[in-house]
Amino acid sequence: MSDLKITRIDVFQVDLPYSGGVYHLSGGRTYTSFDATIVRVTTNTGLEGWGESTPFGATYVASHALGVRAGIAEMAPKLIGLDPRRVDRIYEAMDAALLGHAHAKTAIDIACWDIFGKSVGLPVCELLGGRTDSKMPLISSIGVGSPDEMRQSVADHRARGYMGHSIKIGGDDPAKDAARIAASLADKQPGEFFLADANGGLSVEIALRMLRLLPPGLDFVLEAPCATWRECVSLRRRTDVPIIFDELAMDDASIVQLLADDAAEGINLKISKAGGLTKGRRHRDLCLAAGYTFSIQDSTGSDISFAAIVHLGQTVPERSLRCLLETRDMVTVKTADGDFEIRDGRITAPTTPGLGVTPRMDVLGEPVASYF
Ligand SMILES: [Mg+2]
Repeated sequence: MSDLKITRIDVFQVDLPYSGGVYHLSGGRTYTSFDATIVRVTTNTGLEGWGESTPFGATYVASHALGVRAGIAEMAPKLIGLDPRRVDRIYEAMDAALLGHAHAKTAIDIACWDIFGKSVGLPVCELLGGRTDSKMPLISSIGVGSPDEMRQSVADHRARGYMGHSIKIGGDDPAKDAARIAASLADKQPGEFFLADANGGLSVEIALRMLRLLPPGLDFVLEAPCATWRECVSLRRRTDVPIIFDELAMDDASIVQLLADDAAEGINLKISKAGGLTKGRRHRDLCLAAGYTFSIQDSTGSDISFAAIVHLGQTVPERSLRCLLETRDMVTVKTADGDFEIRDGRITAPTTPGLGVTPRMDVLGEPVASYF
């Protein structure tokens, strides 16, 4: 292995306004803009890699944008001189410098994979196990609204080629949430799929009442019903609605617990929640072994986050892959260019080496921090 060493890590900050105005989640949480951290890792040969970590505000999971940048400040000096292609060794060095804080490790980890791909002339998906033939479907992300608003938003996304819809429910009132689900599914087309995502906002009681109020025969999966593990498992014992985990499936330990408890049929694998592609790869393999269905997503993010989603998604066998989240559609700022064109609501990973992104330096501006 020829000599390749990290010589410099630069951190950029970009505000990503939400494209839909105000995004509503259960529990009255609202979001209007997302604070993105973008990292450039530079090596002794001049080869550069790029990564992004954009938390969904500070109230979605235990991550926040200031924490991303503070975490990088803790870790970056310890990574200078290491070989970025040894992604598991880089991860050990990050873990040795900072306990937890997966969201801070994400941007550096993705940048190392970008360098690894460029160094051998291969797209990241090939290094993660090799690309499938799948033309990957995309899923919409529809915030909590009135039943009519949500039905209309599903129709708008359908018209743009989306086959999957993640509809957010509020957890405020069982009748309202039942009406939201029924309205969103009212015009369901053959081949479409629906995730009703409570983002942990339902109590077991409210969830059971909501499910009883639904008309029979609605075809959907319930995502992240309750805030705690105990409540989710309790609900699962008393309903036959398929459940997938998201916010509670974070790290290696929680994924292993998920399988051990037979607590779900699938997972929403978000790259910054997992801690990057190195951990995302591990979670993918554990969940494949369990026969799970996957959404490959991130909390949110711009073009660089989306590139990482596309490369990891492209390695999941087609029968196990439900969808990818088009994070770019959620924000109004474009941070990088690349061959990530959507055709008929589907996408395939580019064939360019690394992630295949070229950042827009005029959008990124000057680094807010540099380590060397
Ligand atoms: Mg979710």
